[in-house]
Amino acid sequence: MNSHLQIPSNVFLQVEFEFIAITALVDMDNQPQTESQQLRDQLQSLMDAARLNEKKWRRLDQFEKQLIATRTLPELVQLMLENYQTACETDVVTLVLCDPEYEIRRILERSQSGCDEVPGLVLLEKLPAHDAEPAPYLGPFDAEMERAIFDPWPDGCHSMMLLPLMRQGELVGSLNMASSAAERFSADRSTDFVERLADIFSICLENALNHERLNLIGLTDPLTGIFNRRYLETRCQEETANVRRYRSPLSSMFLDIDKFKRINDTYGHIMGDEVLRKVASLIKSELRSNDVLARYGGEEFVVLLPQTALHHACEIAERIRGTIAEHPFRFDGRDELQVTISIGVAQVPAEPEGSDRDIAHKLLAAADEALYLAKESGRNKVVSEQNRPATVVAKRSLIKMLGFGSA
Ligand code: GH3
Ligand code: MG
Ligand code: MG
Repeated sequence: MNSHLQIPSNVFLQVEFEFIAITALVDMDNQPQTESQQLRDQLQSLMDAARLNEKKWRRLDQFEKQLIATRTLPELVQLMLENYQTACETDVVTLVLCDPEYEIRRILERSQSGCDEVPGLVLLEKLPAHDAEPAPYLGPFDAEMERAIFDPWPDGCHSMMLLPLMRQGELVGSLNMASSAAERFSADRSTDFVERLADIFSICLENALNHERLNLIGLTDPLTGIFNRRYLETRCQEETANVRRYRSPLSSMFLDIDKFKRINDTYGHIMGDEVLRKVASLIKSELRSNDVLARYGGEEFVVLLPQTALHHACEIAERIRGTIAEHPFRFDGRDELQVTISIGVAQVPAEPEGSDRDIAHKLLAAADEALYLAKESGRNKVVSEQNRPATVVAKRSLIKMLGFGSA
């Protein structure tokens, strides 16, 4: 008997009712004892299977409700990978998602978890070749199949199920299960219920992605696509909290394009916008994935460098300065533009005082002050506490006033 028949609870009640009615009929007809017993046994096993299915149905129904209630992408992925294994009583669950633009990767990296720390999640730039409408696969564990589906590769599995995840007629991934029991996923099993679950998960995935996209619109700068000042200020407070919690260094850079007004005045605003976009992408190309780059306003950018001490932050800043100074800015076949940038760098002291908000504010103010010194001492420069230009130090001593300098 197929113990994985999917029977809704009303059917279960009906089976129970029929069981009582047939049992009564069998007794009334006064059939021979053995025949009646056989019928009773058959009905009993049908009842047992129905009860078992109802239990499974309730557990999976509960799981579906949890999925629907989940708002963010990291929560959704985690729920699917952690709770589904229990709900579906299988040894291994993995989730393959197609992520051609690294969108999911970036969302997970921004969240606390990060995608490397989600076991069972496999993000692929491209899905393996498939039929137009791929069907679920249930059968023997196939070691020759695309190895990326189960990562890490599970040992001792004998059967598996691969459920396509479809959105608007497109394959967006697959939900995969493997079991040590050879009969757990066999081709004759009904898949109606799990297909329904895959559909619900696909819708939840799309909703979560749209939710993340909406959030992002409010936090990114439309011209350059990098974070905006609002995001930066919130994130800066989070990072300063980490300085205390983990005693890890945090540095920041304030960057300002030199004589940008002249570029606008000479070549027009459209060209100015192109320069802003290119400068943002050049800065980004020199950063690690957990650094934060934001457009602070106009032609000013801020970078947060978690777990980075001042001397290392200055090296990165110097690299950015050099990359921009050497880049041949050329648009629409026009003459090459010379673009340079000035950068101020600062670090949160090892034992900062005040609230996270105060510390974040002081960090940005100190980097801004260092930027001012870079401008004053001739532009196209990186300035920090380590190399404050002597001639302009006297003009402003805000760094010292704010308690960020050692000198
Ligand atoms: P400095 O070296 O002292 O920084 O000189 P600067 O010319 O870069 O600084 P200033 O603050 O005088 O000029 C900044 C200019 O940036 C003025 C403003 O019109 C321009 N700007 C601000 N936002 C945008 C933008 O989104 N697009 C364009 N094209 N220009 C912008
Ligand atoms: Mg400027
Ligand atoms: Mg400026």
